[in-house]
Amino acid sequence: MMTRPFAALLAVCVLCVTVAERGRAQAPALYQQTPHKGREIGKLTGDVYWARMDDYVSAFMVTSEGIILVEPIGTDFATWLKGELATRFKVPVKYVIYSHHHWDHASGGAVYADTAKLVGQANMVPHLAMPPANTPLPQNVRAQDANGNGQIELAEAQGNLKTQFELYDADRNGGLSGPEITRGPLAYVTAPDSTYTDRLTLTLGGKRAEVISIPTPHADDNTIVRFVDGTNVLFASDWITVRRLPFGGDVALKDEIARTRLVEAMDFEHFICSHGIVGKKADVASNIRYREELRDAVAKAIAAGQTLEQAQASVLMDAYKGWEFYEQQRPANVAGTYRALTSNK
Ligand SMILES: [Zn+2]
Repeated sequence: MMTRPFAALLAVCVLCVTVAERGRAQAPALYQQTPHKGREIGKLTGDVYWARMDDYVSAFMVTSEGIILVEPIGTDFATWLKGELATRFKVPVKYVIYSHHHWDHASGGAVYADTAKLVGQANMVPHLAMPPANTPLPQNVRAQDANGNGQIELAEAQGNLKTQFELYDADRNGGLSGPEITRGPLAYVTAPDSTYTDRLTLTLGGKRAEVISIPTPHADDNTIVRFVDGTNVLFASDWITVRRLPFGGDVALKDEIARTRLVEAMDFEHFICSHGIVGKKADVASNIRYREELRDAVAKAIAAGQTLEQAQASVLMDAYKGWEFYEQQRPANVAGTYRALTSNK
């Protein structure tokens, strides 16, 4: 049921994703602030389960013929989960669905490659491709190349390049080249061996999982998954959070609210975000309400002649004080909305 507005959004959003937004993943350090800790598997409903590594959440459906899993969340977690699944359910993982290409969600798919098909939206493939060999070191890291050999060795690396050195060093030669740094920390992300464009239905053991593309500014290869056949679970990564303020500045943009409404309009009862706590359809509605109330409050502040700083101080969104990341994200949410409304976006 691809509606017109949905098709229109697809067209617009694929175009609006620029190279600058590549690899715009949230820093895991942010997620270490949340109270969600450890590895854990929980039953949600029917044969659908969630599995957690700290703040990160994946989901899977068990059938008589095997398991359909969303989100590998890294090699360590995938190795642990694979063992747990084999012990508990005694069937192999047959499909791993990538929600998008970002390293913190997509790393570790290879762990399942002996039994599973890796499924991703077609836009994932160019994100994983190595840029041309003559791609120079990006401007913002050039100063780290102390010996001027055109590569950044571990001893030279700073910041992200240091902490994620292995994830950047795709050819494992101990030096980060221009192409490797430009591509991002994707060394442990295995390309999908099965891609789709708009939607795909996987059937296993008589049960279905719908794999649906909804490109977002966060990821143009963004995939959501609806587990059907009596389970009524929807999984969406990163952008629709449960009792947690959405990240960044663009949260109340028209397109962003419209996209979130598309998800709300789908048929499901339980909602799993790739982060934080597990929710229900009402949590998606609350997420939309937050965005709309934010937009209206900022519009009011602008109409009252407030500056950006004044709006950040006055738009408190009190009703959402109990949500996660209220302190950290409210000012950014207000600022982005202020800028969007004053530039008529
Ligand atoms: Zn992401």
